[in-house]
Amino acid sequence: MDAGDERRTARSRELWERARQLLPGGVSSPVRAFAAVGGTPRFIDRAKGPYLTDVDGVRYVDYVMAWGPLILGHAHPAVVEAVQQRALLGTAYGAPTEVELALAEAIRAAIPSMERVRFVNSGTEATMSALRLARAYTGRDKIVKFAGCYHGHADSLLVEAGSGVLTLGLPGSPGVTAGAAGDTWVLPYNDVEAVEALFARHGETVAAVIVEPIAGNMGVVPPLPDFLPTLRRLTREAGALLIFDEVITGFRVAYGGAQALLGVEPDLTCLGKIIGGGLPVGAYGGRAEIMERVAPAGPVYQAGTLSGNPLAMAAGLATLEVLRQPGTYQRLERQAARLAAGLEAEARAQGVPYCLQRVGSMWTGFFHPGPLRNLDEVRRADAAFYARYFHGMLREGVYLPPSAFEAAFVSLAHTDQDIDFTLEAHARALRRARQ
Ligand SMILES: *Cc1c(COP(=O)(O)O)cnc(C)c1O
Repeated sequence: MDAGDERRTARSRELWERARQLLPGGVSSPVRAFAAVGGTPRFIDRAKGPYLTDVDGVRYVDYVMAWGPLILGHAHPAVVEAVQQRALLGTAYGAPTEVELALAEAIRAAIPSMERVRFVNSGTEATMSALRLARAYTGRDKIVKFAGCYHGHADSLLVEAGSGVLTLGLPGSPGVTAGAAGDTWVLPYNDVEAVEALFARHGETVAAVIVEPIAGNMGVVPPLPDFLPTLRRLTREAGALLIFDEVITGFRVAYGGAQALLGVEPDLTCLGKIIGGGLPVGAYGGRAEIMERVAPAGPVYQAGTLSGNPLAMAAGLATLEVLRQPGTYQRLERQAARLAAGLEAEARAQGVPYCLQRVGSMWTGFFHPGPLRNLDEVRRADAAFYARYFHGMLREGVYLPPSAFEAAFVSLAHTDQDIDFTLEAHARALRRARQ
């Protein structure tokens, strides 16, 4: 660390010392700890638009965007205003509100397969609850998931679970029972033959297939054209449910999520991130006939003290109202495409093997020739090079995910100027990482 770095991180390093005496690993969620890239996590003081400012007063162009929720950028005026107005009216009531209906209606209008919606407090709760419902509905136990897809940290889903776990090099997690893990079959992403073989032998025992329709948690890995249609066909034939985990992709890749973009309709959909506008929210929903099994309409129990929290509902609703305006997704596509083209061109010019995988405004630049279609291929990317590059970018004022296996995000707040700034940083950071 040179003197400049030392000065630029003094306060973060102080807080990091304190944090490690208070919080396991110093953080409230693992990837924040910079374990995969080394160094001191930056403690953030404030954020506005595409910029983060840390406690040492250093400003960064942010491509983490709170890991996906902030598609409008940080502290968007419409979201801040909505939260402020709601807070004045009380922060929670434990009773129904009109604002939760407004958000549910907006979600159903965007994603018609979600005929009924249940709000929860996180993506983890959404997927966990959707699986319970799928098991209850089908009367079956087995779940099929794909290696590298992350669906939150519920026990039966914490098997080959993508970035957080991948980054730490753990196969699953201690504390997950053999029973929970044993009810989960894990197949390679994009491997149609593997799914067909499994369904041929065990189809009648499968409660649900859960999938990120565009994988984001091993870095961005788009589905091959026949992957999702095959899942749709096989689950339907076997009487199993197809669950799309759209916690990242919902309102990200299109207003109607990946299912609108790709034209495949699941039985159940899980949402989170963007629908909370940066406040803690998740939701699951699907066909009325299935969702009506959820308590109190039906016997499948699931509840939450703060579920449908009015502040979170208001933030989500304000976010969707902005997203619904004409031209938003075209703008996201244009900005992300410009960034991607610039990043690739520079890597090519410097002779660095680099493959940028992107769907709309979600993207990952892997240091490996592409395409990378599943977790085994993704694992070949050069994580040590990424760590050097990441720190180079940080020093240049660009905040990327602190792991080679994560999605990065462009927001509506990123301007041409921010992208040019990023491309110049990229050229210098690549050069430094190669030394
Ligand atoms: C983030 C994420 C989750 C978990 O959501 P939390 O709110 O962190 O619990 C689930 N699935 C996917 C695809 C995610 O990206």
